[in-house]
Amino acid sequence: MLRIAIQTKGRLNEQSLGLLREIGIDVDDAKRKFLSKAANFPVELLYLRDDDIPQVVENGTASLGIVGMNEVAERGCDVEVVTKLGFGGCRISLAIPKADEYNGVEYFQGKRIATSYPAILSKFLKEHGVEAKLEVITGSVEIAPAAGIADAIFDIVSSGGTLVSNGLKEVERVFESEAVLIANRNLSPEEREVLDELLFRIESERVSRGKKYLLMNIPTESLDEAVKILPAMRSPTVMPLAAEGWCSLHSVVDSADLWEKVRQLKAIGAEGILVLTLDKIIP
Ligand code: ATP
Ligand code: MG
Repeated sequence: MLRIAIQTKGRLNEQSLGLLREIGIDVDDAKRKFLSKAANFPVELLYLRDDDIPQVVENGTASLGIVGMNEVAERGCDVEVVTKLGFGGCRISLAIPKADEYNGVEYFQGKRIATSYPAILSKFLKEHGVEAKLEVITGSVEIAPAAGIADAIFDIVSSGGTLVSNGLKEVERVFESEAVLIANRNLSPEEREVLDELLFRIESERVSRGKKYLLMNIPTESLDEAVKILPAMRSPTVMPLAAEGWCSLHSVVDSADLWEKVRQLKAIGAEGILVLTLDKIIP
């Protein structure tokens, strides 16, 4: 049984559960407790605050965890970052009062900076030879300058709207983060095997996302050109049609290229084009 720690509630909870469901791990939300077993896979979920996830994975209470890279870096835990997961994207930035002039990181020399990420900030300031006083607070960091607690802040930014409404401006993007899958450093061979299976499924999911399955009828004489337009995984599938001089062509394309490919295929005589949503590609 492999234990995976995920966030109980908050920004990463839904997408963590969504990812696990997409790769076929059935977890019953309604019966959700502190610990819950998957119905069809040797996995159980441990629900925690995101702050605690790196630590329980480091000490082996959970074998795997899904958490923001910002938390992993801040806690300084010794865990393996297995893969990025493509959600929960954000950055941690330095921001200062809007009216202040900014000419570089020297601005922060001797200043008081409010943050919930003292470790990441200290490392950045040290690298730039800046000495500042950190005011560690756990919530509402953005109000610290107006409240007189600090001169500047170091906090998570996504759209920047919160900064603007607090009279601040972003001046240094220090840390880019997204959700990652982390693993304990001493997994048993059996746990490693389950992890490999999970990774295989996550990879398939990633490959299938943003792809469409395309099928159409095409005059046999246009086939060579159609194959050039549609480089599929190996090559497109071609099947003869009962009507003489026509065949059916099947292929997989990136959604982003779909309409351009359709235009090109129509131009060489493709008809009856069907675009289907793809569920999985198993490489
Ligand atoms: P918990 O109660 O589990 O400690 P929290 O309040 O610390 O939750 P959330 O606000 O749920 O944390 O954010 C969880 C993670 O989501 C962050 O650590 C970060 O990696 C990511 N994230 C993505 N976008 C944002 C954002 N705009 N603001 C805050 N976190 C974000
Ligand atoms: Mg937290």
